[in-house]
Amino acid sequence: MNLRKLNLNTEGLNRKLKFIESSQGPRITVGTKVLINFSSNDYLGLASDERLKKAAKDSIEKEGVGSGASRLICGGRDSHRKLESALADFKGTPQALVFNCGYMANVGIISALFDKGDIIFSDKLNHASILDGIILSRAELRRYPHKDMGALKRMLEGCSGYKRRCIITDSVFSMDGDIAPIDEIVCLAEKYDSIVMIDEAHAFGVFGKKGKGLAEHFGLEGKIEIQMGTLSKAAGATGGYVCSEESLISYLVNKSRSFIYTTAMPPSIAASACRAVEIIQTEPGLREKLWENTKLAIKGIKEAGFNTLDSASQIMPIIVGDEEKAVKFSKMLIEEGIFVAPIRHPSVPLRSSRLRVSITAAHNKEDIEGLINSLKKIGRKLCLI
Ligand SMILES: *Cc1c(COP(=O)(O)O)cnc(C)c1O
Repeated sequence: MNLRKLNLNTEGLNRKLKFIESSQGPRITVGTKVLINFSSNDYLGLASDERLKKAAKDSIEKEGVGSGASRLICGGRDSHRKLESALADFKGTPQALVFNCGYMANVGIISALFDKGDIIFSDKLNHASILDGIILSRAELRRYPHKDMGALKRMLEGCSGYKRRCIITDSVFSMDGDIAPIDEIVCLAEKYDSIVMIDEAHAFGVFGKKGKGLAEHFGLEGKIEIQMGTLSKAAGATGGYVCSEESLISYLVNKSRSFIYTTAMPPSIAASACRAVEIIQTEPGLREKLWENTKLAIKGIKEAGFNTLDSASQIMPIIVGDEEKAVKFSKMLIEEGIFVAPIRHPSVPLRSSRLRVSITAAHNKEDIEGLINSLKKIGRKLCLI
């Protein structure tokens, strides 16, 4: 193969890695410029929180840096045990298991639990890690149009002869910021004898009175067999989790390849994540601040006339369409001191390029107002509003 022929540099789709000079937070330093950051999933501003840092430092002193081998070989440490028990307590499930990241959790859970002869129904806009897990499982895949419950019902009605059926959905969709109708999904699942799995990546710490996620928001916690999520977003650390029955967790420990064949998560990360789970439970004020900021941003951006799809969360897409125009929009915002990354194919469909604004609890009112003003100014220049 001629590697020089692997050329991506077409149609504004080539993406390059960038580096920043500061830690994650509402303000980041890029080169010499300080920018207000509206691109991070650090929704509660915990990624650089002193308490999470201290938890990691204390753990490093006590438990070391690396884990040495997989959990099944060299064993977990106290921090892993505490994190899993905190997650199970918080989510109100019998047990929890932690993976090194959310991507590995989805791939490992789905490919371990399902097999040839099973059928999985997956929302068209589900995260790539869900799709990859389904492909690895060898189960039959049916993708239903985004949130189209009529189409899902027809698909469920029309399928027979499978060993097991499962419906999998993101709870908050990562690129559109809208929320899945999990109440209707649970109803359909009951009617058509189907398992439900939800990915709470963007809802954990954000939705629900206690911050447990969208399942809590809808009062459906007991009705969803498999709840997964990540500790890399609102929890400010890194890692994926699954909360479920004991039998399912011990099955995964024995069968899930992305759990078995990898070195355990560093104990310091588990310690930070555990501290974050504690903060999420004891400081509802962070979540309140996030929602206050989110409401202000939604109002301003919608009133300005931008197309924000069905966003109902801290994630707000601003649809641009053209790939190069989205990149230009983002560059012009940088001139204004604001960082909003452009999102292009393959993260979203071609010609639906967008700026993906994410709001956090660490922003202040002036940050949000500045964002709205700059968006309006540039949006007019680019004829988007
Ligand atoms: C980010 C994300 C993941 C992956 O989580 P990581 O911990 O970053 O690997 C999985 N699912 C969804 C919906 C996500 O947005």
